[in-house]
Amino acid sequence: MAGHNKASGRYARHPILFRGLIMCEHCGCTVTGDIKKQKYIYYSCNNSKRTCQKIWVREEQLLTPLSGYLDQIQLPDAAIEEIVT
Ligand SMILES: [Zn+2]
Repeated sequence: MAGHNKASGRYARHPILFRGLIMCEHCGCTVTGDIKKQKYIYYSCNNSKRTCQKIWVREEQLLTPLSGYLDQIQLPDAAIEEIVT
């Protein structure tokens, strides 16, 4: 994720973690992230097919169900060291 967000300096201070990684279940369009009030990150369908309503979801709301899965991912120490390096 760090490398994914490095591409754009604009988002350096508030990396949009899920940028380009999520598709809308309803229409299949890309879900895009946006920063509101300089600190809150919201996501919504980019609605390029004009068949969706823009529903903005806080990044925290997306992270909550995911964090349970992330906790279950375990790596051997050697792999962690390699990633950190
Ligand atoms: Zn959609």
